Amino acid sequence: MIIDSHVHYSLRSYDAEAFPYLDYANGTLTLAHGDRAALLQSMKARGIALCIEPSTGFDRIEAQLALAPEYYPYIRLALGVHPKRCAATPWSSRKQLRRYVLENDVVAIGETGLDYHLPPAQCHRFRQKMWFCYQLRLAHERKLPLILHVREADDDALRILTRYRRLLHGGVAHCFGGNTRCAQAYINLGFAIGIGARLLQESNGGELLRQTVRELPLHAMLAETDAPYVLPPLPALFCSASKRKKLRNSSLILPAVIERIALLKGESTAAVEQALYENTLRVFHLHA
Ligand SMILES: [Zn+2]
Repeated sequence: MIIDSHVHYSLRSYDAEAFPYLDYANGTLTLAHGDRAALLQSMKARGIALCIEPSTGFDRIEAQLALAPEYYPYIRLALGVHPKRCAATPWSSRKQLRRYVLENDVVAIGETGLDYHLPPAQCHRFRQKMWFCYQLRLAHERKLPLILHVREADDDALRILTRYRRLLHGGVAHCFGGNTRCAQAYINLGFAIGIGARLLQESNGGELLRQTVRELPLHAMLAETDAPYVLPPLPALFCSASKRKKLRNSSLILPAVIERIALLKGESTAAVEQALYENTLRVFHLHA
């Protein structure tokens, strides 16, 4: 069984009556069509046991909560203010964020962290740090793990996490793309490393990540897609720019990520699948 530790199925791109999404069967990526309910149904039928959905922004939390009753407990929620949205989110919203977290069944705080890759209008480093520290304390108040989004900002993020070390309750460095030393720094602070389709990429840091995965212990890894984002390399069949734009990633591709981890670690696919499943239950304090 597989847990997708990072999805965004409440996004509008899954509201359409039918949309193309990625599927994976018999070692090949394929295209499927359907709506959100059909996609989630085939995920259940194909061994995706559970998904964790963090917020992409404060303004998307209502949409997450609106969909929650329909899909609970298959989709478990994490709430937070994504670093990308810190500049646009009023600081006073933190009280409402806290209320959301106290009043709902959430398994983590996130996405939170630092993203220095953003265009200047969205990248207000000071505000990102304020929101990160606030959410770190909020996670501590509820003894919840963190879903970290850190891009081109690992030094600052690790400095802040180290300073607040005693307030940490674990979590995951999502969509990790760094080297082994950086991964080890997160692991030393109690975090797992989220591995997704970047592992399958030829460019975009794929080789660096494969090297990191070879060197990391299996108990430190979680599987994730970040669906609808972070697509694996696509067969020529659906590689035209217009098709690619419409295409949504889906948790159905996770067996491809798990197979690649198994290959890199010299383990069986079944052993890797089981280890990653247990790791995710442990990190998010969930029971099978
Ligand atoms: Zn995400």
